[in-house]
Amino acid sequence: MANPLAPTDAELVDRFAHFKVDRDNAAFYRGWLAHELRINRCADCGHWHQPPRPMCPKCWSWNVTPTAVSGRGRVHLLMRLYQGPSAPGVDYSAGPYPVVSVELEEQPGLRYTSTVVNCDPATIAIDMPVQLTWIDRYAAPFAVFEPAKA
Ligand SMILES: [Zn+2]
Repeated sequence: MANPLAPTDAELVDRFAHFKVDRDNAAFYRGWLAHELRINRCADCGHWHQPPRPMCPKCWSWNVTPTAVSGRGRVHLLMRLYQGPSAPGVDYSAGPYPVVSVELEEQPGLRYTSTVVNCDPATIAIDMPVQLTWIDRYAAPFAVFEPAKA
């Protein structure tokens, strides 16, 4: 691999073998390698949408660009999973695993679902300010959140 931040399509598929990488989300996963959460934004009307699609759902423009967000937002939805799919670093026997949908500051209704790390899971609450951070999962970066620093 010549440049780990600019892998070929085949290298990207290999790197994220546990995810369904396709034409529509390749730029999204390339962003993970650069520790950027790249959300598709319409260059014509400015609307952000997630998950990535090739067309703006608001104005139907094909002129969408993967654009890094700040990673700041607030917990919009919180689930505590007592059981679920196995994943590296997830131990349901140690307590419920938190899954959050974070409303990103870029746009009302723009949400990204992941987990919150670097805190006692019992302290996670609706409307809690969070910021993007990264863990390693399946030997690749994985976007998560942590409590926002002041
Ligand atoms: Zn648009």
